[in-house]
Amino acid sequence: MKMQPGTDIQLAKTLLLQGELVAIPTETVYGLAANAFNGNAVAKIYSIKNRPQFNPLIIHTDKLEKLAEWGINLPEQALVLAKQFSPGPLTYVVKKSAFIPDIVTAGHDSVAVRIPNHPLTLRLLEQLEFPLAAPSANPSGFISPTTAQHVFEQLGSKIPYILDGGPCIVGLESTIISFVSERPALLRLGGLTVEDIESVLGSSLDKSLLINNDNPLSPGMLSRHYSPAKKMVIGNVADYLDNYSTDKIAVIHFSEPDVFLPETNQFILSPNADLNEAAQKLFAVMRQADKLDVEIIIADEFPGTGLGNAINDRLRRASVL
Ligand code: AMP
Ligand code: MG
Repeated sequence: MKMQPGTDIQLAKTLLLQGELVAIPTETVYGLAANAFNGNAVAKIYSIKNRPQFNPLIIHTDKLEKLAEWGINLPEQALVLAKQFSPGPLTYVVKKSAFIPDIVTAGHDSVAVRIPNHPLTLRLLEQLEFPLAAPSANPSGFISPTTAQHVFEQLGSKIPYILDGGPCIVGLESTIISFVSERPALLRLGGLTVEDIESVLGSSLDKSLLINNDNPLSPGMLSRHYSPAKKMVIGNVADYLDNYSTDKIAVIHFSEPDVFLPETNQFILSPNADLNEAAQKLFAVMRQADKLDVEIIIADEFPGTGLGNAINDRLRRASVL
């Protein structure tokens, strides 16, 4: 029988100590966690998610001091950011230590680390003497979960426990910055804005490693990701009316509804045009739109400021065919 999500931290801890997987809430999205020091437990993450073995995992803990004990040290510029933004939606890629099994980093000699900002998960992490390796708690390629119920629907029969911490407050995955070269490099847009990071750093990030649809390093790196089952596009509804009847179109708008579409098929992410609110609701709304009896989901292009860039990144990847 599937176990319902709950808030039992001791049960979560016991299962993790036994090498089992537990889904955990964070402020970004729900994670599928394993003891990062236990290679067999980490292997279960890859198999349950159907995640390619070459895609490394982020490890999570509650304190920088613990990382140091495990031989992982943040360089100066990362420490400056950590002071301001950790716990929070920022991931640091730094030199790996021998404590971390190769399966966690997919063979890289760097490791991605984050201190998530969620009260329940921080209380769990405080009690653990190992970091948690945790990618998003969804089958690889699909939309990331932002509620315990989302995890339950997709992975409930495959994992022993889901820790329920309510809806995720940020709603987008963490921003990832690499510190392996002298100049910090942005690897993924996410829940912390580039503007905020650069203002604290006092310098601009190297953006040449960022892989997006405008600037793919190679076409093969343009991965379909965060995807609903339905066809999804970014654009104007008017351009699709010749090919789809209005009742077969769902729309995801930033702030303004369409007058000529049925209300039931329209999702407005933030009537006040607040990008943080839009980010928080995005994945839940994509799931809802996917469940409607429609043939296409049309999303707005979001403003290219603040979290609008990360939202556009996720929408573009969701639209890759
Ligand atoms: P996910 O946990 O699904 O949000 O994915 C984590 C992402 O972190 C991966 O897709 C990588 O892009 C990135 N990542 C994790 N570890 C490393 C690393 N050692 N070097 C570069 N990127 C990493
Ligand atoms: Mg993911």
